[in-house]
Amino acid sequence: MTASGTNIAYVGLGANLGDASATVRAAAHELAIAPGVSGLVLSPLYRSAPVDAGGPDYINAVVCIHTTLDPNDLLRALQAIEHQHGRLRPYQNAPRTLDLDILLFGAAQIDTPGLTIPHPRMHERAFVLRPLQDLAPDLILAQGALPQLLAQCAGQSINPE
Ligand code: ADP
Ligand code: MG
Repeated sequence: MTASGTNIAYVGLGANLGDASATVRAAAHELAIAPGVSGLVLSPLYRSAPVDAGGPDYINAVVCIHTTLDPNDLLRALQAIEHQHGRLRPYQNAPRTLDLDILLFGAAQIDTPGLTIPHPRMHERAFVLRPLQDLAPDLILAQGALPQLLAQCAGQSINPE
């Protein structure tokens, strides 16, 4: 955290129902203007095949934000944006109009029933690592540097949208 109480956080965005690209761009804009959020940078958008699930391809991106919110308040803000886009949770890994996940929140390590940070599966998902690398190429996760982790996901299809 900086002296002003601001943290840098990375949020993953994914959608695979309706106009997924438009939804991801709209959600990024809504987060950019949310109270306690500033300086949002949106990565390029990517298209990926669903992992552990069926349904249409996903559109994925990552945003970097500066935020004065605490992690739980950021999660609530993200869930409100998901809700505005008609997000339902009928079953695990169901197709979704919008999924917003906190990937990293400063150096925070959180493991509570409702919130795990760093996101526990981000290091094995090309659709997170590729746009994250666009925003923060030198970032090093607990599991390794981004190019090394991406090489381990070589079997996952991901293409620029
Ligand atoms: P998933 O993203 O795992 O496919 P959901 O979006 O339905 O599934 O989220 C399920 C729950 O995951 C949420 O209700 C939230 O409390 C919890 N959760 C735990 N850690 C995180 C995180 N880092 N970011 C977003 N949600 C998280
Ligand atoms: Mg989620």
